[in-house]
This record gives sequence, C-alpha cells and structure tokens, in this order.
Amino acid sequence: MSGVIDVVEVGECYVAKSANREWVEKSRHGAVITSLLRYALDSKTVDVALVVEAREGYRFDSVLSIVKESSEIKEPIGAFHCATPNIAKFIKNYLDGARDLKVAVVVKPCDARAIIELAKRNQINLENVLMIGVNCTGTFSPTAFEKILREEFGVDPSSVVYEDIEGDSLIIELENGEQRELNLRELEERGLGRRENCRRCDVKIPRMADLAVGKWGVENDKASLIEVCTSKGAKLLEEAVRANAIVIEKPSEEALRIRDEKVEEAVASARYWQEKALSELSRLSPKERLAHWFRYLDKCVKCFGCRDACPICYCVECYLEPTRGLVPPGEIPPSKLFPLVRLAHVADSCVNCGQCEDVCMADIPLSKLTFILNKQLQEVFHYVPGVSVEEMPPLTVVTDEELLVDLTTALFEKR
Ligand code: SF4
Ligand code: SF4
Ligand code: SF4
Repeated sequence: MSGVIDVVEVGECYVAKSANREWVEKSRHGAVITSLLRYALDSKTVDVALVVEAREGYRFDSVLSIVKESSEIKEPIGAFHCATPNIAKFIKNYLDGARDLKVAVVVKPCDARAIIELAKRNQINLENVLMIGVNCTGTFSPTAFEKILREEFGVDPSSVVYEDIEGDSLIIELENGEQRELNLRELEERGLGRRENCRRCDVKIPRMADLAVGKWGVENDKASLIEVCTSKGAKLLEEAVRANAIVIEKPSEEALRIRDEKVEEAVASARYWQEKALSELSRLSPKERLAHWFRYLDKCVKCFGCRDACPICYCVECYLEPTRGLVPPGEIPPSKLFPLVRLAHVADSCVNCGQCEDVCMADIPLSKLTFILNKQLQEVFHYVPGVSVEEMPPLTVVTDEELLVDLTTALFEKR
C-alpha cells in the first residue's frame, strides 16, 4: 500500500489490511477484523472478544466463542454466511450486559441494532462494547444452504471452502479452486435462498457500530474498506495503526463509487422483497388479513421460543407467563393474546433480525408479520429501531400530537 497514514477521523473511510503479511496472504480481504480483535485484546482495550467460528471445522454451522487471549485467534477469521448467533442476547444474558467487562464483538447490522435497542433499555452497557461491524448482504439457515449446495449446485457441502453473494449471484468456491455461480433472485423466487428477513433487510453498512468493515470497492485487493463511525472506533483503528497491527490508506474515488453502487444494488433488492411482503395481502380486507394471520398463529404451540430469542423481549416478569393471569395456561394453540401481546411489545423496535422465525417450530413467518407492523409504525412515528441510542422507542414516549393519530386507520386500513 502507498501513502500510509496514521491519523484516523470519524466519518472517513480507509482501505485497510493487517500488517501481518502471512495473514493477508491467507485471507480474502486483508485479515483486518482478525488483526483489530487481536490488537484490542493485546492492548487491553477490551477484556474479551466474541468471535464467530465454524463449529468443529464445518463452515455451515457456527458457534460463538469467548476469547480472552489474542493467541487464541490463530488464523484470519473469514466470513460465514450461515452464522446467525444471537449476539445481543448473548451479551445481555451471559456477559451481564457488559456491565463490568469490556467486550469487542464482530456484528452484522441487525446485531448492532439489537445491541443498541438493549442499551437504550439499560440492558447492555454500550460504553463497554466495541462493535466491529461487517457489511452484510444476508445469511442462510444452515439446512437451507446445505440443500442449495446439494440439490442446486450438485456438490458435497464438505467440498466447499468459500461462499459469497455478489449482486444477484450466489457464488461458491470448491476445494479444487473451481468457482460456481447461481442466480440468487431466481432461487429465492422458488422459496430457496437467504433467510426471509435478510431478503427484506435494507441496512447493509452497520454505521451504528464503531467501525463498519467490508470488501465493497476493494474486493480484488486483499484489503477491506473501513468506515469509522464513532470516536471509539477511530481510537481503536488509530492505535492499531500506530502499533503496526493494521496498515491504512485513503481510498480512491473509484473505490468509494463502487462501494456506493454495491450498496444501492443491495438496497434495491431489499426494497423488492419489502414491497412484496407489504403488498401481498393488500387486496384483502382488514378482516381477511386478520384471518390470514390467525390461520398461521393457530399453529403456535406456545414454546416461548420466539420470546426467548427476541433481543427486544427483555422483561424479567413477562406478561405471557401463566402466573401473570393474562394468557390462560394449558391451551394449545394459546389465546390470541399470546402472539398479540408479543407483537404489541416489540413491533415498534423490531430490528428485523429473524431470530424469532429461526426458532419457531411451527414455521410461522413471524419476522414478516413484525416487519409489516414495524414498517407501518415507522410511517407514523418516524422511528428506525437500532440506529441511535438517544432516540427512545415511540411506544415508550408518545407525544400529545401522536396520541391524536388514528392508529386503526394508520395500521390496518391504509394498505
Ligand atoms: S437481517 Fe440484515 S444485517 Fe442481519 S443477517 Fe440479515 S441481511 Fe445481514
Ligand atoms: S421480533 Fe423477531 S425479527 Fe424482530 S427483533 Fe424480535 S426476534 Fe428479531
Ligand atoms: S416460537 Fe412459534 S410455536 Fe413457539 S411460541 Fe413462538 S410462535 Fe409459538
């Protein structure tokens, strides 16, 4: 790299690589995240790092590890498209909301948004969380991806060493170096492909994290493009550069242009799936729409999985527990109050992470239902969940003016 610099500013983008040449050679995108995590541990900026790893070496299943020593991170970590650990909930439940522990964590945009929603509810101490964000075009359930590999690509999953999404293409690379490609839109129109929440997700660059790292604009350079989003992110990157852990330089105009183009392309695809979800029931009357959703909700076995997985559900004494007297015990399917109370509690703050749908044993399209409600609430309250720590969820802070809005008309009769 030429024109090496060592002063980092918030709002700026940099082309970055690890200073470890061996790792850069082994990596696809410069081993930047690996080196940042190692530096954060070595410099005692954090006490632990949360790292997503392949489970027992199988890259289509993943596990979240707590790493205390940088020497435990031996190789460039790389990207996993079948990894959707519930990171925000993990920090809240198992690291006591990072109250007494400084944590570095690699997050997708939905993870970062969930962490922010929990932070504003005093469930996570954001001051102790260093979020290294990764740009994201979507993830797959491990079973869905295995099916695509076996039945669509016609390969044994164990022979695949890399996968990627480029625009409308799903690309895999086999251990013999051969690359294969399928049209992702076409797969998804047939019900295969990314998790449904990911298709609708239009937050591609995690600017709510401290740093946002991605390959767009520099994908062929064994480097990544880092956007510095907070002063905490700027400090980490600047110190890592001064300690000779990372090398950075200014990106070319062309690299930034390509990055913007890729983001626009990914957002346009998300808008396509959003519109599809919002319009597919538009010809039904409100009563018919309710009946449509109740048919799904009648499959609920009240396993509480959606509540337990949802990062926004955080009450210690949940209204859905039989002891609260709202939802009668011993009824399957449960009273409609069960899904409706949950919806009412999370719809304004849903970050579209899809964790509820992933765990639902009744295959209810829960994230779509919450997405539809959230989208319409956004039109009323102009609140985008998980973006700013200062902005409170609208259903906790309703203004006098908003109290006058006819929500029945706004939510049920508009579409
Ligand atoms: S919801 Fe968005 S950020 Fe989260 S995994 Fe899917 S595409 Fe990525
Ligand atoms: S309702 Fe579902 S998609 Fe929304 S935040 Fe909760 S788990 Fe994520
Ligand atoms: S995860 Fe599915 S089956 Fe379980 S309580 Fe939630 S909606 Fe019902």
